[in-house]
Amino acid sequence: MGSHCDHAHDETGLDAGEIGRALAAAEARCVQQGERMTAPRRRVLELLLQAGEAVKAYDLIARYGLDGVAAKPPTVYRALEFLEKTGLAHRIASISAYVACSVGDRAHAAAFLICDCCGATEEVTPPEGEALQQAATAAGYALERTTIEGHGRCPACRVAA
Ligand SMILES: [Zn+2]
Ligand SMILES: [Zn+2]
Repeated sequence: MGSHCDHAHDETGLDAGEIGRALAAAEARCVQQGERMTAPRRRVLELLLQAGEAVKAYDLIARYGLDGVAAKPPTVYRALEFLEKTGLAHRIASISAYVACSVGDRAHAAAFLICDCCGATEEVTPPEGEALQQAATAAGYALERTTIEGHGRCPACRVAA
């Protein structure tokens, strides 16, 4: 994403060893939660880990190519839904993209710092997550998903500007 700035950016994707470890950890987490890491779920998570940045669903569908078979969009959307529900990935609504979770070991509130220049995203623990949860409980809501999104410039783009 984000080719509207012309300066160089650091590669953020993980190497093969790191991806293998992350996938193994994700699989263990699924087993723990009584869920199955099916081939499509694993493949979509692998693509997100390889990208190391937020990826749009149609790019995931295009890159999917498991065993030379093109993905059917519902397969990818269902896999994304699962990854989001289990906290292995997050959907960033303001840029309609998905990103592999980089902090949690279960479903959790997340906050993203999003660079409007290069599209870099960084997951941080939302400072207001706990307070929002308490407000929700007081209002009788059971929150399933909280994602806070902050837009601006990443360090590399700030230096380049
Ligand atoms: Zn997360
Ligand atoms: Zn940037």
